[in-house]
This record gives sequence, C-alpha cells and structure tokens, in this order.
Amino acid sequence: MNLPSHHIEEMISAGDLRSRVDDIVENIAQSIDSENLVIVGVLRGSFMFLADLVRSLHRHNLHPRIDFMTLQSYGGGTASSGNVRILKDVSVDIDGADVLLVDDILDSGRTLRFAVKHIENKGAAKVFTCCLLDKPARRVADIRADFIGFEIPDTFVVGYGLDYDSHYRELPFLGQVMHEEVIHEEVIHEEEIS
Ligand code: 5GP
Ligand code: MG
Repeated sequence: MNLPSHHIEEMISAGDLRSRVDDIVENIAQSIDSENLVIVGVLRGSFMFLADLVRSLHRHNLHPRIDFMTLQSYGGGTASSGNVRILKDVSVDIDGADVLLVDDILDSGRTLRFAVKHIENKGAAKVFTCCLLDKPARRVADIRADFIGFEIPDTFVVGYGLDYDSHYRELPFLGQVMHEEVIHEEVIHEEEIS
C-alpha cells in the first residue's frame, strides 16, 4: 500500500450500521409512496449502503428500479477538489419518475447538489436524497439530505463502501483513518548524538 503510515480505528460497528439502515428504510417507506420509484446510487462509495438499503426496502414492499451514476469529486487523497464530473450517467429512463438519490457521505455538499440538479434536468418528477453519513461542519453548498444515517465529526472515514485511495471499501464497519506520528530526521539525529 503506497500510502502514508496509518491505521484504521473502528467508529461505527457493522451491527450499528445494520440497525440504522433499517431505521432509515422505515422512514423512507413512510415518506415515499411511489409506483414509479428509481433508486440511483452515486458510485462508487454508495454500493454497500445501497445494497443493504434495497434489501431492507424489499421487506417494506417497495420495489424500485435501480441504477447508478459515477461521479468524481475527489482525487486520490483525502482533500476535496471542489469539482464534480460525470464518469457514467444513469441508463434507465427517469422521465416522470420519483428518484431517490443515494450517496455515501455529505461533505461539502457539492456532489449531491450536482447530482440533484442533473436528475431534475433529466425530468424526474420528484428527487429525494439519502446519505449514510453527514459531516455538517464541512458544508459549502446549501443542501440537506432528506434521509441521513449518522452525523459524524470532520474526520476522514473509510469502510462500508468508502475508500482511501481505493483501499478499505470492503470493511463491514466504518473506520477512521489515523495517521501515525511522523518522526522527523532531525529528531532522530539529535537523539543519536545526545
Ligand atoms: P462532497 O461533494 O459532499 O464534498 O463530497 C462527497 C464525496 O466525497 C463523497 O461521496 C465521498 O466520495 C467523498 N468523501 C467525503 N468525505 C469523505 C470521507 O471522510 N471519506 C471518504 N472515503 N470519502 C469522502
Ligand atoms: Mg461518493
């Protein structure tokens, strides 16, 4: 792994994620009464959350069509580029449909705001938004999600679909990336001569 020295500390357990997903789905099922629902996952971070979400929706007798779009807002690191571009657009016809947009995390809010506008422009009747995580401290765009799993502090998280340079998406829990202390050469040198 070609990344600065770090380790992962568990922040939200697999069990807590599971029960919170069921709570969100209960809310969604009560709020969205649609015969023509399309769930659009924003790849790649939402894939695991969306998979759990739709299986839970099935138990509430909601049978949406499902599609994905790939948006890119971050480079390889942990800092936002501020730009959003479409790498892959939705394929199903969403004209006149009610759309539930699903993303992993609401950070600056630029990605979700971009996605909502894009889906509206494609003729969706209504657009709902659902994010597993919310970092309100970092919001730049004026947007709130209709359904939120957890509010978290301003820290970089991985697991349950979220990555650090494409690593850690497979983790069944949500973890925080902890960077190890960097030992500067000068300090080592001082210790050697003392
Ligand atoms: P926004 O456009 O709201 O600033 O960024 C949203 C996207 O940035 C998310 O969909 C996610 O891909 C990425 N992102 C924001 N914060 C984090 C984080 O803490 N961890 C990871 N892995 N991705 C993040
Ligand atoms: Mg994302």
